[in-house]
Formats: sequence, structure tokens, C-alpha cells
Amino acid sequence: MEDLYAYDAFCFDLDGTIYIDQMRLPGVKSFISELRARGKRLLFLTNTSVHTREDCYTRLLGLDVPCQLEEILTAGYVSGMYLAEHAPDAWVLVIGEEALKKELRSFGLTITEDPHRSTHVLVGMDRQFHYDKLHQAATAVRHGAVLLAVNPDTCCPVQGDIIPDTGSILKSIEAASEQEAAVVIGKPSRYYAAKALQLLDVNSGRCLMIGDRLETDILFGKQNGMKTALVLTGIASKEDVEVMDIVPDYIWSSLNERSLGVSIHPIRSTAL
Ligand SMILES: [Mg+2]
Repeated sequence: MEDLYAYDAFCFDLDGTIYIDQMRLPGVKSFISELRARGKRLLFLTNTSVHTREDCYTRLLGLDVPCQLEEILTAGYVSGMYLAEHAPDAWVLVIGEEALKKELRSFGLTITEDPHRSTHVLVGMDRQFHYDKLHQAATAVRHGAVLLAVNPDTCCPVQGDIIPDTGSILKSIEAASEQEAAVVIGKPSRYYAAKALQLLDVNSGRCLMIGDRLETDILFGKQNGMKTALVLTGIASKEDVEVMDIVPDYIWSSLNERSLGVSIHPIRSTAL
């Protein structure tokens, strides 16, 4: 689609796409304003579990990015949706921070610290992760609890650094329990996409997914029938596109105004 504004809906990743820490990335405000002025439907889709949906909402407003709470999905929140749908009576051992527990409680789910009583182990990002938590999680899984992960991200960009994320913690639990996760809920999962498209109420082909990670954001869009745009303001570089088999429809240096309309650059796939 040559005309960017021919899409009906736009999904944005947050970290590395809209902001990094407390810094709004270039072009975000004007692009969002333009899309709103044209009546486009927007969703902000993040794989975070250390911030609640409300936290993201407050942060976006603080960065002068107007939005509604209902336009935001976090992987922590969607994990709550998933468990409430599939195992509403679950006893969940959470490897994660308070934000994730808060999201689960908002869905009426029961959280336990007892590995012998837990029916599910949900793994998110946990900056206080340590040996005892690894032991508890592995014990729970060995006793039959279902292992789930909030997202597959092994690392996360922060200002001036890259820090370990959920996927790195998950791998240690998989190793210690000798079992792989049964479900990974965040991007690029089909479950997350189904929830997003349901909220947008559009055909996936009318939707553009914009993000900074090939293996989550772009794969998410491609696997779920959306068109995709990679922004080079976060994790992925143009060189990464050349070595990976995940090829976005567009590559933009950032969301600044020069990237809009006729100056977008369709990328020809070399991954056939
Ligand atoms: Mg990102």
C-alpha cells in the first residue's frame, strides 16, 4: 500500500518506538496527531510486564501523547485475560514484579507463592529474580504446574544499555524444570493479535503494525496478516533485516514527518 493513510488502523509498540525511558522519540507526537485527525484507529501494544496498563497510560499522557486507556494492551494485562479465559480457577505462581501481580488480581485470579499448590507458573520480567525463585518455579513445574511466559523477549533497551528481560529468565526456568513453556502470551502470539484485532474491529490487512523489534513486533504483524513497519529507534538495525528472515514492509529511521506519505520506503523481500 503506497499511501500510508490508506490503512484503517495503526498498532504501535511502545519501548523503542514511542519512547525510551522518559524520552519521547522523534516524530511521535506529529504522527499520532495526524492519524487522529484522519480518524484512524490506534492501539499501543507493549510486551512489558513491569508496568501496568494504567502506568503506560499515565506515561503516554506525561509525554504528551494523547490516548485512551482502552487503546493500550500490555503483555501482563493480556496474560490476565488469557488466564481468566483458559484457567479462571488457577493458582498462579508469579515470577514477576508487582505490576504483573496487580494485572492478574484485576482479573480475579489467585496468586500463590507455594510451588506445591500452584497450577500455573507465569514468568514475566523480574528485576529481583534470584536462585530461590528459580528453585520455586522449577519445583512447581516439576509438580505439574503449567509453565507460561508473558513474552519471549530476551532483552530490553533502556537509555544507554540493554538489560535482560523475561525470555532470559524463562530459559533458566525451562532448563531447571526440563520443560518448555506451554504458552508465550505477548507479541508475536496469535492470541495477543486476536485480542488487538478484536479491539480495533478491523480486518488485519487494513492494519499497520509499527515496532522496533523484528522477532516480536514485525513477526507479530506478519504472522497475523498485518502490514509492518520497522522503526530504527530501538533494538533492530537495518543490518539486522539483512541477516534475519523477518522482512518488514517498510523501514523508517524514525516516526518523524519525513517518513510519512510518499516518502515511505517499501522494502523488497530477500527472504524467499
Ligand atoms: Mg519495542
